[in-house]
Amino acid sequence: MVSSEAAPLAKTGGLADVVGALPAALRELGDDVAVVIPRYGSIDLKKARRVYDSPGIHLGLVRHSVSIYLAELGDPPQPPIYLVDCPPLYARKGFYGEAGVDYPDNHVRFAVLARAAVAVARYVFQTEVFHCHDWQAGLVAPYLRTTYANDPTFLGAKTLFTIHNLGYQGLFPKTALAEADLDPALFVPEGMEFFGQVSYIKGGIAYADALSTVSPTYAREIQTPEFGFGLDGALRARTGVLTGILNGVDYSQWNPETDPHLPARYSAADLSGKAVCKEQLLREFGLPAEAMNRPLIGMVSRFTRQKGADILVEAAADIFAQDVYLVALGTGDPEYEEFFRSLASDFPGRVAVRIGFDEPLAHRIEAGADMFLMPSHYEPCGLNQIYSLKYGTVPVVRATGGLDDTIEDGTGFKFREYSAAALSGAVRAAVAAYGGDSWRETMRRAMSRDFSWTVSARAYSALYAKLLGRV
Ligand code: ADP
Repeated sequence: MVSSEAAPLAKTGGLADVVGALPAALRELGDDVAVVIPRYGSIDLKKARRVYDSPGIHLGLVRHSVSIYLAELGDPPQPPIYLVDCPPLYARKGFYGEAGVDYPDNHVRFAVLARAAVAVARYVFQTEVFHCHDWQAGLVAPYLRTTYANDPTFLGAKTLFTIHNLGYQGLFPKTALAEADLDPALFVPEGMEFFGQVSYIKGGIAYADALSTVSPTYAREIQTPEFGFGLDGALRARTGVLTGILNGVDYSQWNPETDPHLPARYSAADLSGKAVCKEQLLREFGLPAEAMNRPLIGMVSRFTRQKGADILVEAAADIFAQDVYLVALGTGDPEYEEFFRSLASDFPGRVAVRIGFDEPLAHRIEAGADMFLMPSHYEPCGLNQIYSLKYGTVPVVRATGGLDDTIEDGTGFKFREYSAAALSGAVRAAVAAYGGDSWRETMRRAMSRDFSWTVSARAYSALYAKLLGRV
């Protein structure tokens, strides 16, 4: 697998969770998997072993000096994660940029990642299928199709490209293609050109042998103009090889019966620990004790338009006219961070907000809240609503992408239209149901749902086998 993130070493979102957990689930099924990611500044090499020194990765006349390290993780040992060490490119503060500005050489950084992954496949880890994730791994397939087309090492190799979020495309000026040392013939609309620019995600879409995305509904949605970000045509052209495989979640990390981040643990059979979690969460956020008997809504999110921040802005007055409380954790666009801050000042004692990335706090919110709100404009899969099910925290979601595929009437509340009115309608319905017998039934039903990785891993494993002509 080639990726820009893998939990626990490098994570900004769901991609890292997937690449962090799927390999181990595949190994249980007998597949031999390794992961290649960049060695960012935040990854400590003390716990890694150098396994390969490249004589240099050449992109045209520019040579990048690269070493490959093996991260030793986990007990029992996890599938190997190979770190591409090239300090001038990766040893920086951010993964993709700093202070909201992308690094100007991202096209080079992720070209080198793709080339380093090919080197790992050649010298370190014999590879039959290159499973590439998102635009950052978008060049693997084009290199294999052109630069390495006649290379005997990769003759039978296949590529699978997985789209975790079509909203991020890796768009660069036309000159990027030459700087990535790719064949100029790829600069065509049916290849990697996107309205005069080079699109790394199109490298995956156009040249991978198979495509997948992270839920069946999102796989359909991205082939429509509404969700296609201008790529729906390119995706429709490949509809025959595009599938949707729902993400699993890692219940060794997300389980209220064992979660070490919680002040008290609980299960569907004994929910008393959940009340303790709520009490402490209210205290932690400085919300009043009266909220113990009222619905507490939780949010953990990237604060962006994708996540529905704009309709929440509009619906806020209506929602907080009811006797409900909100705790929110997230980071993202400055304008939406500001919105959440102002929500807290507009509704003091009702709304409390933390701006930041805080994994333990994300767990405490999942456990302590009564409802979990995800009003996403689009959501490829979404993980938090699946964690919420397990924590008996009833999801209130917009019926899009993976949210629609994972939440049923009976385990959560859904609204379809992307509007403030529909959002507050769903919150009202949840608030009206809160506290009664049917609410406890909803919680228990939610907690019984199983989205463990095994099911998804089986689907990926079958797809690899199909690519290799083994089924
Ligand atoms: P996306 O990948 O679009 O951000 P997902 O729901 O697929 O959304 O995955 C988000 C993951 O990142 C979840 O594991 C969630 O708990 C975590 N996460 C997001 N924002 C934060 C934050 N501010 N602090 C801690 N964890 C966060």
